[in-house]
Amino acid sequence: MDTKVILAGKNLEELEKFMIDNNQSKFRAKQLYNWIYLKSVKEINDMTDLPISTRELLIEKTQFCSISIKDKQISKDGTIKYLFELKDGNYVEAVLMRFDNRANLTACISTQVGCAMGCDFCATAKLGFKRNLETEEIIQQIYLIQADTGLKITNIVYMGQGEPLLNFNNLIGSIKILREQFQIGARRITVSTCGIIPKIKELAELDFQSTLAISLHAPNQAIREKIMPVAKEYKFDDLIKELKSYTQKTGRRVTIEYVLMKDINDSVNDAKQLATAIAKLKSNVNLILYNQNEKSNYKKPLKETVQKFKYILEASGKKVTIRLERGADIDAACGQLSSKKSCRNS
Ligand code: SAH
Repeated sequence: MDTKVILAGKNLEELEKFMIDNNQSKFRAKQLYNWIYLKSVKEINDMTDLPISTRELLIEKTQFCSISIKDKQISKDGTIKYLFELKDGNYVEAVLMRFDNRANLTACISTQVGCAMGCDFCATAKLGFKRNLETEEIIQQIYLIQADTGLKITNIVYMGQGEPLLNFNNLIGSIKILREQFQIGARRITVSTCGIIPKIKELAELDFQSTLAISLHAPNQAIREKIMPVAKEYKFDDLIKELKSYTQKTGRRVTIEYVLMKDINDSVNDAKQLATAIAKLKSNVNLILYNQNEKSNYKKPLKETVQKFKYILEASGKKVTIRLERGADIDAACGQLSSKKSCRNS
């Protein structure tokens, strides 16, 4: 049985208690804390300002993480996809993206093993749902990416595997750690959801300061419920209404994510309907080109279609961006996280 104390995930008070319980000076905890969250060193012995005796104690009694890097793929655009093994043998993936012209380093992280939402077009959905990640498993993805690359992550998107709002407490717990311990600003954190209305309501009550992104992907109920089963429970109009009240309560704009799929939701009429549906919603639109994968029949839209769609939304007064595709050659792009290795469990 592994009974070592796991470091990544502990707050300062917990580390102080560990030091005191082990007859060390309390202030060593702050040094340890910085090594974990800001420097993300790989080895206890890299913590050069800790006395040898403290390091020996840490080596004996602790380990950094309960999850580990099982595999890593690097795309020709620099994107890195990580496969993490969890302590129960399950797998999740995370992706590190760099954009040449920006200093930002964005990590896309997972909140669940698999996903229960069953979106027809998404590779993760094909895995089914296995379990929620614990708070420490969510944030250890960040620690391990930082330790592996030696780089400090500046932005986080909760757009990996799983539905973050269905792992609500651990989501909120992990954001607190990202903000307080990794020192990542609330505005640099984005949570994406397929639209779990009661949880959006709860977020608004929390005075949520990070960005909320909604995987809308359709301009109306009929199309949405064909491709996203969640729409049968949480209806299109109710979702838009809830988002309006969310923006009023928080004063924050939401991001509408819209994956364009050929002949499914990419017509001129769809663009017009979408523009009308979100006209009074304080929002920006992020258009995503469908990433094709072998498990699905959905197709990428034509280039002209994308431009037309964008133009119609812009003409209605919306700020529209087209998401840069990253890591498609290593199946790291949106909707491609399927943890191929996890097939051994299925
Ligand atoms: N469950 C959350 C978080 C996942 S984010 C949510 O639904 O928002 C992953 C994003 O990628 C979602 O917007 C999802 O709908 C989108 N996606 C899924 N498959 C895709 C694909 N093949 N191409 C592009 N985007 C896809």
